[in-house]
Amino acid sequence: MQTILSTNQLYKRYLDKNVISDVNLNVQQGEIYGFLGPNGAGKTTIMKMITGLIRPTSGQITLFNQPSTTSSFEIRKRIGSLIEYPIFYEHLSAYENLQLHCEYMGFYDHKAITDALELTSITEPRMKPVKHFSLGMKQRLGIARAICTRPELLLLDEPINGMDPVGIRELRELFHALSKEHGMTLFISSHILQEIEHLADTIGVIKEGRLLKELSMSQIHSQHRDYI
Ligand code: ATP
Repeated sequence: MQTILSTNQLYKRYLDKNVISDVNLNVQQGEIYGFLGPNGAGKTTIMKMITGLIRPTSGQITLFNQPSTTSSFEIRKRIGSLIEYPIFYEHLSAYENLQLHCEYMGFYDHKAITDALELTSITEPRMKPVKHFSLGMKQRLGIARAICTRPELLLLDEPINGMDPVGIRELRELFHALSKEHGMTLFISSHILQEIEHLADTIGVIKEGRLLKELSMSQIHSQHRDYI
């Protein structure tokens, strides 16, 4: 298997406090990587560094075998992400929001957008403005936006948060399909093991800004549950 994303001695400091310390994580191509940690552990901060939204204080991020810098747009185009709550052009429709995003990313494909809307079960009328969408539907639309450019790597920050049980089941099926049928690599954060344990191939456990362990699911089930 090929490593698609790795970090080496990654640090992020705010004022005089290291919120991320010496994180070395490895994500293999095609896998679902569950990024598990309590609130405030540093999950969002790491995902923002991976997607180039913020810069590391020190350390390296390698994406697709290339050193990542915040200016490398060619690398960013290969990543889809939903980090924190999605913001849309509220007066535009779902399709129009995705179209604008695709045009900005330099990849506009009508079929890719309709596929993304279908995969995320967005069945709203085509012209309905996003301001009339429910919160759950906006969360789905955020995922649709993240996949409509057909990225190789998909980063989702607590995507299951706030979804109802049916929505959770549908999203799990979607993540499984994106990984196993569409060949995407998924990096999904959560603060609840049960949300990702039946989905993930590997789990990275983060606490107080440090990566405690990276474990395959079989290791978690057999011996290392005390890390969670
Ligand atoms: P949550 O699930 O609550 O979002 P998290 O694991 O994603 O938690 P982060 O949001 O990455 O955690 O936050 C990690 C730590 O960094 C927290 O202590 C947070 O207060 C701090 N932090 C994050 N952003 C900033 C900032 N811009 N300035 C100062 N401290 C910050």
